[in-house]
Amino acid sequence: MAIPRSQRPRISLLSLGKNTQHWLRRTYIVLGIETSCDDTSVCLYDRYSPSAPPKLISSLTSSLDNKEFKGIVPTRALNHHQVHLAPLVCKLLRPPNAPQIIPELICVTRGPGMRGSLSVGVEFAKGLSLAWGIPMVGVHHMLAHLLTPRLLTNGSAPRFPFLSLLVSGGHTMLVLSASLLDHRILANTIDIAMGDAIDKSARELGLNGNMNGPELEKLVQRYEESVAAGENKALSKEEMTEVGIKVKLPMRPKPGRPQTAAFSFSSFVTMVKRGVAKKGGFTALSETEVQIIAKQIQDAIFDHAVDRITYTLSTVPREVVAGIQDFVCSGGVGSNLLLRKKLIDAFSNTVMNLHFPPPDLCTDNGRMIAWTGIEMWETAGLHSSYDIMPTAEWNLENILGDVDGWLREDRTEQNVRPSDIAA
Ligand code: AMP
Ligand code: ZN
Repeated sequence: MAIPRSQRPRISLLSLGKNTQHWLRRTYIVLGIETSCDDTSVCLYDRYSPSAPPKLISSLTSSLDNKEFKGIVPTRALNHHQVHLAPLVCKLLRPPNAPQIIPELICVTRGPGMRGSLSVGVEFAKGLSLAWGIPMVGVHHMLAHLLTPRLLTNGSAPRFPFLSLLVSGGHTMLVLSASLLDHRILANTIDIAMGDAIDKSARELGLNGNMNGPELEKLVQRYEESVAAGENKALSKEEMTEVGIKVKLPMRPKPGRPQTAAFSFSSFVTMVKRGVAKKGGFTALSETEVQIIAKQIQDAIFDHAVDRITYTLSTVPREVVAGIQDFVCSGGVGSNLLLRKKLIDAFSNTVMNLHFPPPDLCTDNGRMIAWTGIEMWETAGLHSSYDIMPTAEWNLENILGDVDGWLREDRTEQNVRPSDIAA
């Protein structure tokens, strides 16, 4: 019988025994595996030095095409991972004309995410870990998104404490991270995620790509280029409402309505749906009308995010905010250039350094999972037991206590090389 979450120990610690080697050796190869949603993504890193970012040997991703299905179908995603994971890892480990690579640490997404999808990665990692006699770390997917910029700086920036805006297809949250395992969610979405709202709004405008966010961004960019080139007239907000749709930011302060530290994105989809229906559906819209509505909705979604972050930060004690030097924006929507600009305009005065990982590290990828596993292994001495389960819901505020199966190593002798311990 499953033990209720409330009765579980906060952490179960087992020791695998002491290492007898006393010198610092960190050189090891890391395999990263991400299968939480519909991207199968794997990578190999060479952790060749403790004082430099790990060197990427190779990374491979296979993305599921969801065009025809208007979103992600969990069973299709599961099949996608089952078909692609082993061949991708095989390609990574057996480079042409070179000896087979055997990693010394496996980092795999344990959750949160779609249970079926997660289970493909987790069970595969267990098998490899057992077969090779090397440790495995079950990684929290959202922790990986927020640690991503540290991968490029070997953990030197951003420094704790820092803020993160995590904006993906499934999540929108503002997080204050005090240390590797100490995170507080300051604001969360009360309905759908920012990426989901963007994808659904774009669909109402007739876009039907595999990922609608970048397509919507391109539409807006084309409109702005046409205005700059004088092909279209620059419009005021009021004129845009006349040509496009009526847009209103949710959760704005009103007499008698208490403010909340939260985001809400579902009304944006309704605004586009209603506005487009009033005009006779997207097929009745001109190219410019589509572009203007795209601009209105993109602007409004990002303005709402800035508005809610500003309010949320006003609720945090001043001395806490004063100690924060860094702000990370990560997750798929984090690659949007307009969102980046709005965050820089709004917060570069309050929070000194803004960090935007490159777009290929913003969307789901195995590299962020590998780095997070490295941090958990080297800094916290943690890895996972073979009875861990894929965890669809996993509280970022209680990473160790919310799930069991943690094993902790003694790091006093700086025996950080996995094979020193696992052998
Ligand atoms: P993730 O869930 O982190 O893999 O991110 C996927 C989500 O990010 C989807 O909703 C995408 O439409 C969205 N997305 C990716 N690139 C962009 C972009 N340039 N602008 C807006 N949304 C984007
Ligand atoms: Zn993600």
